[in-house]
Amino acid sequence: GLEPSFSDSTRLQLAVDYISAGLLDRAERLLDDILSENSPAKWDALRHLITIYQTEKEWEKAINCSAMLLANSAYKKEAELKAAAAHYCCEFAEQFLKEEQPKKARELIKRAFSFDKDNVRASLLLARIEQLVGNFKSATKCLIKVRKNNPEFISQILGPLAECYEQLQNMPEYEELLSNSLPDGPDVSVVLALSQLVKNRAGDEAAIEFLNDYLTKKPSLTGLVELLRLQIPKAGAKVGSNLSLLQLTVDKVLRKNPAYQCNHCGYESRNLYWLCPSCKKWDKIKPIMESGSF
Ligand SMILES: [Zn+2]
Repeated sequence: GLEPSFSDSTRLQLAVDYISAGLLDRAERLLDDILSENSPAKWDALRHLITIYQTEKEWEKAINCSAMLLANSAYKKEAELKAAAAHYCCEFAEQFLKEEQPKKARELIKRAFSFDKDNVRASLLLARIEQLVGNFKSATKCLIKVRKNNPEFISQILGPLAECYEQLQNMPEYEELLSNSLPDGPDVSVVLALSQLVKNRAGDEAAIEFLNDYLTKKPSLTGLVELLRLQIPKAGAKVGSNLSLLQLTVDKVLRKNPAYQCNHCGYESRNLYWLCPSCKKWDKIKPIMESGSF
């Protein structure tokens, strides 16, 4: 380590310089030294260490440092710190899921909730774990919790929710759940899922009627594309090919639209990132809802 005669603030600054130069190992050693001395500088040292561990994807260390920092009453209410800690747990849980260790993954999700009890990603992961081990009822509960607490994420839960209800052989309950959310003007993904359910249960005509009825009240381009897709086979050859062209064109335009946006810096993307690639904040990227307007 450095001579103890260097002040804490000088050593912290040096660590920051190491980090910006990409010399993470050196920064880590220096910060570990500061941490072991148990001086007031240790809180700043912990913050920098968390940055390093996040960059190096050393999730266990990132979790431990976050827990130490959050044990200090001066920091324990910092929302961004808590959100980050929950995501480190989720990242670690995803590693265990890849290794097919659902038990360990579930423990980490519990830990994630201890940092941030409404974390959407943790709820989605828990649902995936429960689904994986065949607890379809519990998985359904997790997903419904997301729908209630984070309605903007509804498009993310429909796929797994449909799978769970299918396993439970209870599609009517799924249809009822979706129908009940229609008056709130939900994301168009709910309307499409419902149209699919109606189609499977009662055929194309019933689905067309449902979509027609809904879109008249709450027009949406994505909904219209689906309606065209159902109606084209029933149209005459000439009109049918024109409608096909219209459907393809609108679909192409829609596919270029971003599906997610960071509500901190405005970054837009087609994929969901929990950590914004632009402003590097957790949990700021949300699905862009399309509900009943062009
Ligand atoms: Zn951002």
